Amino acid sequence: MTTTSPGDLPAPEFRAAFHRVADLVADYLEHVGEYPVLPKVRPGDVRALLAPVPPKDPEPLDRVLDDYRRIVEPNVTHWNHPGFMAYFGITGSGPGILGEALAAGLNVNAMLWRTSPAATELEETVTDWLRQMLALPAVFRGHINDTASVSTFLALAVARDRAPGLEIRERGMAGRADVPALVVYASDQAHSSVDKAVIALGLGLANLRKVPVDDQFRMDAVALEAMIAEDRIHGRLPIAVVATAGTTSTTSVDPLQAVAAVCRREAVWLHVDAAYGGAAATCPEFRPLFDGMEQADSIVVNPHKWLFTPVDCSVLLVREAAALRAAFSLVPDYLRTDEEGVTNLMDYGIQLGRRFRALKLWMVIRAFGVTGIRERLRHHCALAQELAGWVRAEPGFELAAPVPFSVVCFRVTRGATGEEQDKLNERVINRVNAAGSVFLAPTRLRGRVVIRVAIGNLRTGREHVAEAWRLIREAAAGV
Ligand SMILES: *Cc1c(COP(=O)(O)O)cnc(C)c1O
Repeated sequence: MTTTSPGDLPAPEFRAAFHRVADLVADYLEHVGEYPVLPKVRPGDVRALLAPVPPKDPEPLDRVLDDYRRIVEPNVTHWNHPGFMAYFGITGSGPGILGEALAAGLNVNAMLWRTSPAATELEETVTDWLRQMLALPAVFRGHINDTASVSTFLALAVARDRAPGLEIRERGMAGRADVPALVVYASDQAHSSVDKAVIALGLGLANLRKVPVDDQFRMDAVALEAMIAEDRIHGRLPIAVVATAGTTSTTSVDPLQAVAAVCRREAVWLHVDAAYGGAAATCPEFRPLFDGMEQADSIVVNPHKWLFTPVDCSVLLVREAAALRAAFSLVPDYLRTDEEGVTNLMDYGIQLGRRFRALKLWMVIRAFGVTGIRERLRHHCALAQELAGWVRAEPGFELAAPVPFSVVCFRVTRGATGEEQDKLNERVINRVNAAGSVFLAPTRLRGRVVIRVAIGNLRTGREHVAEAWRLIREAAAGV
């Protein structure tokens, strides 16, 4: 038996490899635009390049990093590519990457204040910075989760927990005649994470009402109120409304003032999903679109979406942090601590262990400054407006939705029937994607296929948007 510990990598070896990693990442970011956005691989191609069994003996890190460079890097979809305009354009920015690396070095698990005072207090501070950037009142408290899906799940769990007299946390819902159907409302443009939260909370998809939208894809608050009244007549209990501020398809913003007024009258929880749009709310000129958000009970904003923070980082802001704690706090004996007046982050959600995500967000906000962040968001919005102008001026094309931020939805209008038009627009997108310099994803609006260009990457410039437009026009002429 050996008495010396086999230990970690020898320090000099680690230092040399980390320097090489720094060069790898810097080279990657400098040249990412030279890759096709979508790797030219078929399913199984990457697996075929990987050893099917684990190495018995240690391998030199240089060889592992060579394989990273050869097998991994070229075969990912390049989200940091300037031509990435599918879903939402995002960026793992320089300061965010540095924060991620530093957090890995510390490897703290901030479940309790005691298990990482700095991680806990930095999270409290940086989420309060975000609150200020969103011009929200000081009562809101921030809590970092991995994704908006989880943030929304937590918010709806609190809404369920607060259903008066039902004690669901203690007694559950199954087998109880005294628990009515609990109903959640969201527009028909809301993100599928709302549906998933309803599934996971045992509320049942049949109790998720999809509220119709107006001609600009915003929730109809009058219809919402009518649906709530209808549910009450039938003995069901409305518990929450999810309003979306920046929907996934068109980035439309629900009328938050009107929705908040309904929620107040009806005493139901208002959760605002601003996963993408929340970034724009940090710009004073866009903030009026979000008026009413300050009346929400909870809000989710994803810095990993349009605030240049590497995946993952989602901030849930809650008006009453105590409600979140009431829903989730459960302290086993071995985790009891006696510090007074400290936050133990494990009390605010389902996870015990947690990554130090606040560090990268802190570094992004400091390195760019609020002004620098706004400047970058405005640049993306200006590019989107320019593209929208080109679409408007082009015969055979039409805008499919207003362009409030940095996403442009439009379609080719040729084709005798709706179906023909759909096929044509799909073919245009496929052709553009095959070219390699741009990646687009379609969406559907009122059942029809739409081309969607999402601008949000820090490396995307006018030339990349112009290239996308050139490819789209060319493809449309050829199909
Ligand atoms: C992207 C998005 C989500 C989901 O975000 P995740 O962090 O991936 O869970 C939720 N809501 C809206 C409006 C989104 O755009």
